[in-house]
Amino acid sequence: MKAITVVPKVNGSLMVRDIGKPQISENEVLVKVIEVGMDGTDKEIGRGLYGEAPAGSDFLVVGHEAIGTIEEVGSTVKGFKEGDTVVATVRRPDDCINCRNGESDMCLTGNYKERGIKGEHGYMAEYYKEVPDFLVRVPDSIKGIAVMLEPFSITEKAIEQIFTLQKRMIWKPSTAIVLGTGSVGLFAAVQLRLRGIDVFSVDRSQSVDAKRELFESFGIEHIDSSKDGLTTLPKTIGKSADIVIEATGNPDAVRDSIGLTGINGVDCLLSVTGGTSTESLDMAKFGYDMVMGNRVVFGSVNSNKSHFEMGVKDMAKAEELHKGILGKLITRFPVSAFKTYDMLNEKTRIKNVFVM
Ligand SMILES: [Zn+2]
Repeated sequence: MKAITVVPKVNGSLMVRDIGKPQISENEVLVKVIEVGMDGTDKEIGRGLYGEAPAGSDFLVVGHEAIGTIEEVGSTVKGFKEGDTVVATVRRPDDCINCRNGESDMCLTGNYKERGIKGEHGYMAEYYKEVPDFLVRVPDSIKGIAVMLEPFSITEKAIEQIFTLQKRMIWKPSTAIVLGTGSVGLFAAVQLRLRGIDVFSVDRSQSVDAKRELFESFGIEHIDSSKDGLTTLPKTIGKSADIVIEATGNPDAVRDSIGLTGINGVDCLLSVTGGTSTESLDMAKFGYDMVMGNRVVFGSVNSNKSHFEMGVKDMAKAEELHKGILGKLITRFPVSAFKTYDMLNEKTRIKNVFVM
């Protein structure tokens, strides 16, 4: 079968390769891949900056956001049948206490694997095989958008973590500021709206059409920060935020995000900031604000199966409320058009998806 592969750490090594079709064991299912989404990690892998081949292989099948249909079911598999539509999780556990308990997103050792990224082949192929533990069934109502379930689960985890942390007090959040309007920022904004929170979605641009429709449908207020920056946001919206989600990865946005929370507020850093930065922070003010306001700043990475399942529910709710709006974030390409991830840099598109 055909697969899109890369030689990890070699820039420009993306190519179509003929590899063996997976043969399932009795505890596995065979999934025919329908669509695969792309993100920033894929681009880094394509440019040779990141990625690790499975042991014994000199290449890696790429792709970690995929929707597919079960075509064959092993004899001991329970809970899945031929024809089921599924999305697979990405991370595969090491054997720390978190991994052993289904929380590989909280892995202590860092020795987990990730399909399509780190030590395990991904999904950008005609087929993959998997055990049921890492599969989530997709209902018909969200089949057209569930290729985005993996990034959608990242923000589900972040929001779950925010609410878990805030169980430290009586907490009725009403206002959230989300920095960044890439797919992660948009998903966070939608999920917070589904929880009844007023959301201000911030980036450095006029909103483009696909986003504008989403903002209007879900009642998200867009703020263009290109002129005034971020620190004036509480003044602009007339209050400080109970929740801030930083989804730009910009060092100055990371710094400024801390000052946007009000008393008892929580700031979740959700985007990886690469390289080094000389941004400075007034540590005396930071310490004072954190202590005197009971504030929290924390980071959140990856997601586990429970967050994919939360994502299924929220996607279904979003479709029920505003059918077809999330789907407008997707731009589809036939996989035969695939040359390099850099072809995907056009800024007005939110989620690029390859149809297998
Ligand atoms: Zn672990």
